[in-house]
Amino acid sequence: MDLDSEIMSKLQEVIDLLKEDYGVPVVDGREEPLDSLIQVILSQNTNDTNRDRAYQRLTERFDTPEDIMKADVREVADAISVAGLHNIKAKRIQECLKEIEERRGGLDLSFLEEMGTEEAKKWLRRLPGIGPKSAAVVLNFTFGRETFPVDTHVFRVSKRLGLIPEYSTRERAHKLLEGIVPGPRKQEFHINLIRHGRRICKARKPLCSECILKKKCDFYKERN
Ligand code: SF4
Repeated sequence: MDLDSEIMSKLQEVIDLLKEDYGVPVVDGREEPLDSLIQVILSQNTNDTNRDRAYQRLTERFDTPEDIMKADVREVADAISVAGLHNIKAKRIQECLKEIEERRGGLDLSFLEEMGTEEAKKWLRRLPGIGPKSAAVVLNFTFGRETFPVDTHVFRVSKRLGLIPEYSTRERAHKLLEGIVPGPRKQEFHINLIRHGRRICKARKPLCSECILKKKCDFYKERN
């Protein structure tokens, strides 16, 4: 078997093993793309609970995205303080909203649905602070596009498994994984890899002896 076929076969087995253990995640309905974008900014360097709390407080404090955009940045930062890095995130949210208004004449991203995936990705990535992961999250979770977001857990676990080269950058990992993970299973695999990274394949001390993927894992094989 050549290297590409080996990786493809390992990938398919890993996707299936994770599904056996974690199931197929159920994602509640579709979000509005602008809400998703704001949540993605809030989620940087924090957990889902604090992201959700920050988003709830933000939407309780401000009635509309226009109000968030026009508010004193300190008020926005205060509303989202639970998410951490709140001064940076408040500034980034306002900059994104201003940029969207300038480019579109209003605060609405539903037009992205009409665009091809690559074009929509490029449009989002021209917003301040929006990288490949954030763009992929917005497009996958709001429009069901077959993008594959690579966050810190996905990146770490994929590297240890040997699905991407050891010295791959995050940017490169996006391209590689998006190209090989089967379209309809991208969201499932993304979520299950995050679950596995949080529960078993932890950054500092991976619990390899308990891991259902160890027979497929380069990191494990090198050490055993
Ligand atoms: S065997 Fe260890 S390093 Fe490999 S995926 Fe499992 S926990 Fe992570």
